[in-house]
Amino acid sequence: MPTCKDCTFYTPVNETTGNCSNLGSEVLADKDAGMCPRRTFQPRT
Ligand code: SF4
Repeated sequence: MPTCKDCTFYTPVNETTGNCSNLGSEVLADKDAGMCPRRTFQPRT
């Protein structure tokens, strides 16, 4: 299951949290990408 930390929009802040440049807010690293509020998960390349 991919999570926010696997997404191209994710920039880590620490082990558990990062910034989502798409939402413009913090998200949890292990948040299920299937639950992305904007449905804009994109795998990192
Ligand atoms: S775009 Fe969605 S899946 Fe990607 S980091 Fe932001 S909230 Fe997570």
